[in-house]
Amino acid sequence: MDNINMDNTKETNGNRKSISEKVRTILLNNLLIFLLILSLILGIGLGTALRTVQPPLKSRDIGYLRFPGDLLMNMLSFLIVPLIISSLISGLSSLDTRASGKIGLRAIIYYLTTTLAAVILGIVLSVTIQPGSRGGDPDDIIQGDGDRVVNTVDTFLDLIRQCFPDNIVEMCFKKTLTEQVLKNDTTGKTVDDVNTTTVSMVTTNNPDGTVTPDNGIMVEPVKVYEPMLVKQDGINVLGMVVFSVFLGVILGKMGPRGKPLIDLFDCICESTMILVKLVIWYSPIGIMCLIAAKVVEIDDLGKTFEQLAFYFLTVMLGLFLHGFLTLPLLYFVIVRKNPFLYLYGVLEAIVTALATASSSATMPVTMRCLEDRNGVDSRVVKFVIPVGATINMDGTALYEAVAVLFIGQMRGFDMDIGRIITISVTATAAAIGAAGVPQAGLVTMVIVLSAVGFPTEDVALILAVDWLLDRFRTAINVLGDAFGAGIVHHLSRDELQKLDNYSKSEASNTVPGSTRSTENNALLNDNTRYKNYSGTDNDGYIEKEEET
Ligand code: ASP
Repeated sequence: MDNINMDNTKETNGNRKSISEKVRTILLNNLLIFLLILSLILGIGLGTALRTVQPPLKSRDIGYLRFPGDLLMNMLSFLIVPLIISSLISGLSSLDTRASGKIGLRAIIYYLTTTLAAVILGIVLSVTIQPGSRGGDPDDIIQGDGDRVVNTVDTFLDLIRQCFPDNIVEMCFKKTLTEQVLKNDTTGKTVDDVNTTTVSMVTTNNPDGTVTPDNGIMVEPVKVYEPMLVKQDGINVLGMVVFSVFLGVILGKMGPRGKPLIDLFDCICESTMILVKLVIWYSPIGIMCLIAAKVVEIDDLGKTFEQLAFYFLTVMLGLFLHGFLTLPLLYFVIVRKNPFLYLYGVLEAIVTALATASSSATMPVTMRCLEDRNGVDSRVVKFVIPVGATINMDGTALYEAVAVLFIGQMRGFDMDIGRIITISVTATAAAIGAAGVPQAGLVTMVIVLSAVGFPTEDVALILAVDWLLDRFRTAINVLGDAFGAGIVHHLSRDELQKLDNYSKSEASNTVPGSTRSTENNALLNDNTRYKNYSGTDNDGYIEKEEET
């Protein structure tokens, strides 16, 4: 009797403990979201208040204000390289070639479909609202000289070249680009500054070290742009993704021989994700400072904003419809689950995207949200998110389409069907090629502009509001990746289940000491690693949140 009582008491205590643990977990999970939203609001409030301070803050003071935010950006950017390489290798090596092929194909189909849907939505909205016909005089709006000449073919070749870096170490901090170098047509000498159009003097260097002008003539350099390959600062994410995908698949096929390296990358991936969790708890402070500093430093946009208001609103409407209607609807139709509950699970990533304007920097947070909060299979997350953060940019694609049509309408160009189709195709390509860093879409937009024959320097027309639109389109880029992972997970559940069953049965048939046994144990390890998501519902997610 006593025993039963004791057992009951133990059980009640256990229940109470597990309930209080659950409540604690729910509070902790939501506390972070609450803190992140609060940090956004506080950032805007603090920034607005500081704008009224007299004398106005100097750039040094703004730098001090942004300092904690810069630290956050550094921490997130620091995690990109180890996370992309290790998660792709670890994820792909744990799948068999057939499963990874199917998952990859589904992901690519999803990326292309949703990006194209975003572009079409952007085109429909621009044609309906006609933002460019409602703005002011383009020459009033232009900021800076916007003098860049970029060739579409060169840009495409750059993207392909980036997929195959020539140096494994250098790809972590440099990428190759074709620069247009301005040459002086008269002399054939390179002009120092590519954007220099000032009159220069043709000179001859004398053997005695003196310089004399050639006949004393001043020659205005004629702009002749010559392509030249240069190395530019920045992570070559595309190259890293291609390399890691291949290495992951090869290691997975190597069986026991590949296991030590797979274990190493598994370990790097797991430990990096633990670091991500630490960084996430610091992020509210960083985000508040990033936003406050941005609000303080923006120019008074008054008139320019007025002229760009319709353009701004068209992009915002498009992003809103794509992020809160198209994507959730697609998720609901395919997965048959509440898309807004899923969206709530990735809110931390959305807020981080709004603050950092970089889907690459947000990638660690997105992965953590999907695995821990939405319970998406980690094999899918490790594969789909690094690739998605690099090439799947729905928000950027939509924005590029609207921006190019806006420029065309403002300049009074004819918008025939041929041009519209060209915009759809090139905007999709430009979004795929854009890096996941702030305002990368602005750079790749020249592909679209030059493809339809608009002056590429007209990107300067939309510069004034780009920093703000960048944040919102990055949030939609991240949301697109997140929904993609959920959808691909759902569609791939049979393959994943089969893989798990196979691993289990192989493990139980292990003959100790044989080569097969090592191979099977490797699979068993993988299986144990991913066991955490089975035992939930069929798809393994959302419900898992309660377990954590
Ligand atoms: N900032 C965007 C991103 O990181 C890219 C862009 O559209 O400029 O996803």
